[in-house]
Amino acid sequence: MQIYEDDAKEFFRAAGIDVPRFFIADSVDGAGAGFRGINSRVVVKPIGIKGRGKLGLVRFTDSEEGLRSVAREMLGKEVNGKRVSKLIVEETVPSIKRELYLAITIDDILRSAVVVFSTRGGVDIEEVSRSDPGAIAKIPVSITAGIDMLAVSDRLAGMGLGAAAGKVAAAVESAYSLFRKYDAETLEINPLVVTGDDRVLALDALINVNDDSLFRHPELAEIRQRNNAQSDHERRMAELGWSYVDLEGNIGIVCSGAGLTMATLDMLNAYGGRAANFLDMAQVDGDGLYKALDIIMERKDLDAVFVNLFAGLNDCKKMAEGIARYSSEKKPPIPIIARVVGNNEDEGFKIFQDANVTNLTSLEEAAQMVTRVANDGNTR
Ligand code: GDP
Ligand code: MN
Repeated sequence: MQIYEDDAKEFFRAAGIDVPRFFIADSVDGAGAGFRGINSRVVVKPIGIKGRGKLGLVRFTDSEEGLRSVAREMLGKEVNGKRVSKLIVEETVPSIKRELYLAITIDDILRSAVVVFSTRGGVDIEEVSRSDPGAIAKIPVSITAGIDMLAVSDRLAGMGLGAAAGKVAAAVESAYSLFRKYDAETLEINPLVVTGDDRVLALDALINVNDDSLFRHPELAEIRQRNNAQSDHERRMAELGWSYVDLEGNIGIVCSGAGLTMATLDMLNAYGGRAANFLDMAQVDGDGLYKALDIIMERKDLDAVFVNLFAGLNDCKKMAEGIARYSSEKKPPIPIIARVVGNNEDEGFKIFQDANVTNLTSLEEAAQMVTRVANDGNTR
């Protein structure tokens, strides 16, 4: 279960990690009224959307009218298949000296929690780990002995944090206590900033709680209920009786069968591909495939769509017809790569060939091809 920025920041504050003054607005009037309480320069961000900085969704304004206009623009807007329903409006931090990255997470290989820390915060940590892996410190945490604060202080000492180093160390310690308290899988602060006057504040916040521990956290039930809102896609797919979950990659997935779908996602992942969704569709015929492609293609952040179906009782010919019809009628801007095999696959292959849709027999080859095409990024 994900705990979003506003709730996470309340937890941070309670644990002694400083956060700026903020309020939540779900309407233009609410934003206006809230502004009068802060009455200084504010930063506005939609809650529940990832990578807002890059998407141009971190906005600054000095006036109530300015804030109302940002709220009018953002609220109700759809971003990557998610509708913006809440904004966090926060007093800006006037002089940011450093932007740090801090996370506590579980390292599957070390089989322990780790503190991940970098002086290159603010940006995508995945990017830093590729381009400058030395800039990321990883400190394993013993589940019995707890966090080794000497090791943490040692690492921080070399990072030129000056007078703020002690406060950063305290934030690391508090973050770990929260991580344990809520049975988190990940707790991330990006950025944790150091100000000109050496204050240390969390400007962003994310906590992921292990779902298996939720019975121990009745205090999270209300948050869970409130956040259970589905994306537009999730709601529409659920109405069709299909299992669908939005993910964050760029490869749209059309599959049937939960097992095959999971295997497909795992295989893509192994080749370096990133799925944009989980879809276990129930209507595996021409119309069903047409509909599935039509909905999946609405997302504008895809670079390819991967259709992976195995026909036991179903008919590959009908599936191929649906995909071919979609492709010729809608002329999608990105490639569809299919691996549709099983019952009547020879007829299916003919249809794919005539329609110029790539269809492969081997799942490995198809997964590799779609990964290559999508990672090229030049498909539109
Ligand atoms: P994300 O892109 O969704 O992770 O959104 P963040 O909340 O992390 O904000 C992205 C970037 O906006 C941060 O790294 C900061 O550089 C900047 N930012 C956020 N809040 C403030 C603020 O109060 N003052 C200033 N000057 N910059 C901010
Ligand atoms: Mn961030």
